[in-house]
Amino acid sequence: MPTSTTPSDVVVVGGGIVGLAVAWRAASAGLSVTVLDPSPGDGATRAAAGMLAAVAEADFGERGLTRLDLASAARWPAFATGLAEATGRDVPLLRAGSLAVAYDADDLALLRRVLALHREWGLSSAELAVADARRREPYLGPRLAGAAALDDDLAVDPRTVHAALAAALTQDRGDRLVGRSAVRVERDAAGRAAAVHDDAGTRHAAGAVVLATGAVPTAALLAGLPGVRVPVRPVKGITLRLDAGPGLALAHVVRGTVQGRPVYVVPRAAGTGSGPGGGPGHREIVVGATSEERPDDRRAEAGGVFALLRDARALVPGLDEAALVDVTPRARPVTPDNLPLIGATAVPGLLAAVGHGRNGVLLAPLTADAILAELTGEVLPDLDLAAADPRRFTPAADPVPGAAR
Ligand SMILES: Cc1cc2nc3c(=O)[nH]c(=O)nc-3n(C[C@H](O)[C@H](O)[C@H](O)COP(=O)(O)OP(=O)(O)OC[C@H]3O[C@@H](n4cnc5c(N)ncnc54)[C@H](O)[C@@H]3O)c2cc1C
Repeated sequence: MPTSTTPSDVVVVGGGIVGLAVAWRAASAGLSVTVLDPSPGDGATRAAAGMLAAVAEADFGERGLTRLDLASAARWPAFATGLAEATGRDVPLLRAGSLAVAYDADDLALLRRVLALHREWGLSSAELAVADARRREPYLGPRLAGAAALDDDLAVDPRTVHAALAAALTQDRGDRLVGRSAVRVERDAAGRAAAVHDDAGTRHAAGAVVLATGAVPTAALLAGLPGVRVPVRPVKGITLRLDAGPGLALAHVVRGTVQGRPVYVVPRAAGTGSGPGGGPGHREIVVGATSEERPDDRRAEAGGVFALLRDARALVPGLDEAALVDVTPRARPVTPDNLPLIGATAVPGLLAAVGHGRNGVLLAPLTADAILAELTGEVLPDLDLAAADPRRFTPAADPVPGAAR
């Protein structure tokens, strides 16, 4: 017989930024919450640069994703303020905006195609003369072909946010963060998800179960749940963390392409540097990211690290003086259509909050609101989540009797 814990209104499987955002929102609404995760915050959340870049991430063929990104970006200021108030911790947002830069003429042609897409979709961006971009950000390199301002994009430190979410949860009403893996979702006689079993043999009874497992395979966990498909694949990426001294007081996110290769440089506030010999004027700067169709093997290939540094210093040469303090490989959880799975699955009581790809930090507040609305039966008038419906992947030949499609 498994041991059992006190039932929770919600059991969240996965304590990355998405799972903890969902858990915090649910706990704040008065629901009792248990989160299961053997290593909370050590998935994609640990690598993420923290760009909240609904405009910069807008890409051809991804209008549905851009709509979700914009809706979540609009939620971020209140989310950060609420989290800071709940925990007494600083959750600073970088509000200076992003500069998109092009290294050579071909990069500029690409940038102009993207700016035309922004105009078509009504997104806020403006091409700048390189001299004007350099007036805004004096640390830009001397050899740039063009630039644009994306003033609405924000950035945040995902590790800081994750730590605050964990603190908010443990402070709240005795909610639990259990350091175990979920191995099975149990259904009751009516077919509803009723409990999660962990790898220590403990049964966690639940009013509802939320799957927030990132890029980790879920086939075994979901075995025997009819109609539930979570086609998430890992796309490995590496980010670098540098400690920059007062001589590199970068104020904007700088992102661009260097001979066709994308790269970004994301500064944190002064005082965030952590390298040896660092001091109050030092700041963390994140450089990213590689992208490979394969799982997170925790290996930081020298070639990937070299290419990121080479391209980042072409945009911001002052990075040469910064100390490299951290190299983080992890996998993005990516779906076949690049849209997340947010909401009810084919099994009643089982909700999905997975597949957030390259924008999971950005999408965390929207996901938390959407899952809470699903849990409480509330309708969010400003939010159309049809594109993210998890049941879009339920095969027609695998229906759940009586379940709405
Ligand atoms: C290199 C890189 C850079 C990125 N940069 C950005 C960025 O700038 N902006 C942005 O918005 N997004 C960015 N992302 C994407 C973002 O990191 C992800 O979309 C986001 O972290 C997904 O969060 P998550 O909570 O779903 O997944 P994760 O953070 O991966 O968390 C999933 C958690 O589930 C747990 N888990 C899995 N299976 C089980 C189980 N059976 N039982 C219990 N626990 C389980 C894992 O231990 C893990 O902690 C980046 C990603 C990478 C890799």
